[in-house]
This record gives sequence, C-alpha cells and structure tokens, in this order.
Amino acid sequence: MILYVSGCGIPLAPEIPVAPEIPVLTPEEIALLKEHSYGGGNYVIRWPDDSIIEVYDETNFPQLQYVFDEWNQVLDGKAVLVITNDSSKAKVKIVFKDLEGIVGFAGVGMTGKMIENEFITFLSDGIVEIDKNGGFNVPIYLHEFGHILGCLRHFEDEESIMAKVPLVRHIDEQTKNFFLLLYSLPVGYRLL
Ligand SMILES: [Zn+2]
Repeated sequence: MILYVSGCGIPLAPEIPVAPEIPVLTPEEIALLKEHSYGGGNYVIRWPDDSIIEVYDETNFPQLQYVFDEWNQVLDGKAVLVITNDSSKAKVKIVFKDLEGIVGFAGVGMTGKMIENEFITFLSDGIVEIDKNGGFNVPIYLHEFGHILGCLRHFEDEESIMAKVPLVRHIDEQTKNFFLLLYSLPVGYRLL
C-alpha cells in the first residue's frame, strides 16, 4: 500500500540561490566609491534592487518626468523613480522650505545599509535660475536626486551634475559611471 502523507512536495535537494557575481574592483573604483558614497565609504549603501521610488512633488516641477527619465536610464531598472499623487505612499517628498541661502538640500534616511525609508528634499521658495542652458532648475532637481540615489560628496569637475553648483542639464559620464558601479554591487558589500 502506498500512503501519501502530504502533497507538499518539498524537493530532496532544495535549490540554493546562486550568489550574484561580484565584479573585481580596481583600486580606482574603490576610491571612487569611498569618496562619494554614504556610510563612510566602507559599505555599499544604495536603494535595494527593484525599488520603486515613489516621489510626491509639492513644488509641481513641470520637468520632473524629464529628471526621472534621465536617472531611470542610468539606473537601468535597478531602481525606478516614479511620480505619485499620494503623499502617504511617497518615499521621497519634494517640498518648499526656506533654507537660508541654500538652493536645495537632500536628506537621506536609511535602514541598515539600504536607503529605504522616507526622506525629503527641500528646495527653497525662491529657487535661483542657475541653468546656463535656460531650462528652469533642471540642474538642481537632477543634482538633488543624485544625493537621494546614493551620492554623498560632490565631484570637483564643474561640468558634473554632482558639482557643488550644478550647471548642466544631463547626467555626465563621470556621475553615470559612479552610479553604474554603485548599483552593480550588492547592498552592504564591504569595500576593503
Ligand atoms: Zn549637493
């Protein structure tokens, strides 16, 4: 007699998930990450894979979708910035606040080594026009989202969107390479 005890079907050799392949980093890449990322540069701190980052924009910035398109192209699906009209769902809120002379400020919150809890970008009420190409404030919004996504310290190069005073309307190669590197590594990856 065959007695079927359960139809649960646990395989004898459960499949063990394959660890993601971790690229071997050059000393230059490690230096780049240590200099510009969060966490004192000892660990990879970024949004977890497949994050849908819902953003509520109190400032109603008309070119926000352009800003997100630029970043989403760089992130290539690892994390996606989307606009939401529901502020209670938002992981990022863009609000006006008087910052006493500072144009924009991004506050980043994190749990462990993941950027994941709610944080807020403040942009002062009277945002100055610093975009030499004529687009209203695109550089500032692009720049602040660079902080939100994982870049702590500014780049020296004036043509970089992550320069202290951003002047460009696109994500430059240097910044792009930093983010490609950051998001190619697992969250919490130790930088030795
Ligand atoms: Zn900045």
